[in-house]
Amino acid sequence: MTPISFEFYPPKNDDQRAQLARTAKRLKRYRPEYVSCTFGAGGSTLSYTGETIRALSREHRFDAAPHLSCVGGTRAEIAALLQDYRDAGCHRIVALRGDLPSGMGHPGDFRHATDLVAFIRAEHGDHFHIEVACYPEVHPQAEDAIIDLRHFKAKVDAGADGAITQYFYNADAYFRFVEDARAAGVEVPIVPGIMPISNFSQLRRFSEGCGAEIPRWLRKRMAAHGDDVDSIRALGADFVAELCRRLIEGGAPALHFYTLNLSRPTTSVLERLG
Ligand code: FAD
Repeated sequence: MTPISFEFYPPKNDDQRAQLARTAKRLKRYRPEYVSCTFGAGGSTLSYTGETIRALSREHRFDAAPHLSCVGGTRAEIAALLQDYRDAGCHRIVALRGDLPSGMGHPGDFRHATDLVAFIRAEHGDHFHIEVACYPEVHPQAEDAIIDLRHFKAKVDAGADGAITQYFYNADAYFRFVEDARAAGVEVPIVPGIMPISNFSQLRRFSEGCGAEIPRWLRKRMAAHGDDVDSIRALGADFVAELCRRLIEGGAPALHFYTLNLSRPTTSVLERLG
């Protein structure tokens, strides 16, 4: 069976904490290989990420992996966080550059995720399994696809054990990217990041920012359903399940679901996959 993992974001108040607890409980029965929790670049979720990781591993018994974005951080701050995570029993980390929130001036001691990966390896040897991000549809700031791939390879050469992709809705973009990465000498597993569809207008906004393309036919069909939320969700779940099926058949080593702390959009896809 294809391994799966779930990504959450750190709740900041009691309502959000209760929602995550419900979601974690519902998703547990799918036996994820691990779950992860995002980190606000510049430290905006600093304490919440740690708190969430501890709750996910202690209360819900997940293998929980913190995301760590280095932009805006100093070497001392990042070193302290890594030690905290190690002391909390974490063995896996998702290492990122992150995007500095607008208005935050100080870029910090790390320029790119490659620097963070190298730092983790230098400080902690092989203790952490390190995942990095990659972009089948090209990172929005990259000059072109070839340069972006070169930077991805540098990140892996610095010591990453695996990669999770930005979400995409075009399976061919993933297959082509994996092919190019293999030809460039990248050998680590490249796991598709899957974004189930629940709120389509929110997804459109998100996608513009991160460069994920939503196929025109899907946009048009979603628009045709107007405010009929149930139809939109059903169409989205059918479409994403079909995408997952193609990815699995094409050799994807695992699937990583961006849950947005909701269980239903992800379980609708998993139920369709049987
Ligand atoms: P990098 O690998 O550093 O790449 C960023 C850009 O710099 C790319 O365009 C790359 O081509 C370029 N680049 C890389 N190295 C060099 C170099 N040596 N010289 C010149 N250019 C270079 N964001 C968060 O804030 N918190 C999260 O928890 C989070 N989780 C994520 C999880 C996944 C799976 C993914 C795919 C993304 C996540 N993000 C998160 C978003 C991510 O932080 C942004 O996409 C960010 O813009 C890039 O981060 P990166 O780690 O890919 O950066």
